[in-house]
Amino acid sequence: MIIPSQLLANQTSDPLSLAFDRLAPSGPMMDLRTGQPAPLPEWASFWSGAEPLGAYINIPFCQTFCQFCGFFKVKPKPSQLEDYIRALTIEIANQGRLISGLGLKLSAVYIGGGTPSVLTAPLIDRLFSAINKNLPLKPYCEITFEARLSTLDRPKLLAIFGGGTNRLSVGIQSFNTDVRQQAGRLDRHEEVCEKLTKTIEINPGLTVLDLIYGLPGQSLEIFGQDLALAAQSQAQGMAFYLLKPIPGSNWHREVKNGLRPPLEGPEHLSKYYRLAVEHLTAAGLERISTNHFRRPSGDRNIYNHLSAGRHSIFALGAGSGGVHRGAHYFNTREVESYVEKILSGSEAVSTFHPAKPNYEILNNLSRQVQSGLINLERLELSEALRERLSALLNQYRTCGLMQPAQGGLALTLAGYFWSPNIEYALRSLTDQDSKEK
Ligand code: SF4
Repeated sequence: MIIPSQLLANQTSDPLSLAFDRLAPSGPMMDLRTGQPAPLPEWASFWSGAEPLGAYINIPFCQTFCQFCGFFKVKPKPSQLEDYIRALTIEIANQGRLISGLGLKLSAVYIGGGTPSVLTAPLIDRLFSAINKNLPLKPYCEITFEARLSTLDRPKLLAIFGGGTNRLSVGIQSFNTDVRQQAGRLDRHEEVCEKLTKTIEINPGLTVLDLIYGLPGQSLEIFGQDLALAAQSQAQGMAFYLLKPIPGSNWHREVKNGLRPPLEGPEHLSKYYRLAVEHLTAAGLERISTNHFRRPSGDRNIYNHLSAGRHSIFALGAGSGGVHRGAHYFNTREVESYVEKILSGSEAVSTFHPAKPNYEILNNLSRQVQSGLINLERLELSEALRERLSALLNQYRTCGLMQPAQGGLALTLAGYFWSPNIEYALRSLTDQDSKEK
C-alpha cells in the first residue's frame, strides 16, 4: 500500500508553518477542473429527496473590482440591473414551482455575488417579493444578503431587512485605509467604522463580517487591529479568509507578468491564522468551522455549512452553480445570454457534471474535515480503502495535524490551517482507490 509522497505531511517541529510546502486547492467545486459536462438531467427526478436544501441566488455585478477577486462579475450597464432582476424573478418563480411540487423546503437562502447591494431599493423589494412568493422556505429559514458598505444606504437596508433577510454578510476584508486602497476597496477606515456602526444599528437580524489575511501592506499588527475592531463591533459572526493568488484576479496577473512580488506563502500566512484563532477565542467567540467564529448562540451559518459539507444547493441567477448527491451544474455565465434565455422561456442551466460513483464517501470525508473531527469508523469503506486512509491519518497524527479525542481524531490548530490539504489528500486517495477497482 503506497501513499503518494506529495500527500504526506512534512515531519517538522513547526507543523503550523511547515507541514506542507503549499496549500491545496479548497472548496466544494475543486473536483470540477477535470471531466466533461454531460447532457442535462430530468430535473424533477434529479432533485427528489434533496434534504437538507439551500438556494444560492447570484447577483453578479460590482461597481468596482477588488484586486484579489477571481469571481465572475461585471460592471452593470444602464438598465442591465432592471433586466437582470426581471429575468431572475421569472427563474425564481419557475424553479420555485419545481421544488415546491416535490415537497422540498429550503433551510437557507444565500443572496451573493458580485455585490447584491448594488441593486436599488425597489429592485431589492422586487427580488424579495419573488423569493417570498415562490420559494418554499422552512420556518426560521436563514436568509443571507451579501453587502459592501460603500453601496449601502438606509432605503436599501430597509428593503433588505423588510424582505426577510436575517443575516447580513458584510465584506470588510480590512479596516486599514492603506491596505484597503491597495486592494481596490473604496472607503477609508473612518468611513468603514461609521457605516458599520450605522448598519448594525438599523439591523433587526444579525450581521457577520468577512476579513482577509495576507493582503499586501497588512502586517500582523494591522491584522490584529482588524480582528480587534471586528470583535468590538456588534457583529454576531466573523470569517477570516486567507489571500490566495486566484487566477483571473488582477494580482494573479500582475505577479505572473512580474509586475509585483509573489503574494505571501503559507509559512508566513500561518502566523495570521494563529493570531485570528487566539484573538477571537480570547474575545469570547466560538469556532463553528475551519475559518468561521461566532458569538455564543449568534450566527447559525447554515448556508456555508451546507455548501462546505457538499449538501444540496439549488442555484439561481447567471453563473451560479448547484449541487445534489455529488452532481454539479452551472447556469450560463454571461448576463445578456442568461436574460435572453430566461425571457425566451429556455432554462438557464448550461453545463451538468454527473456524480462520481464514490461521491457519498467523498462528501462524508469532506464533512468530517470541515467539522474538525475525523472518524473512519462512521463511514462505509472497503477494507483496503480504510487501511489506506488510516495510514494517512496516522501519518498526519505523528506530524502534529491531529490528535486523539472523544469520537475520533480532532484537528489541531495546524490541522485546521492545513485542512484544505487534509481534505484534498483524503479525497485523492479515495479516488485513486476507485480507479484501481
Ligand atoms: S471581492 Fe466581491 S466586491 Fe470585490 S470585486 Fe469580487 S465580487 Fe466584487
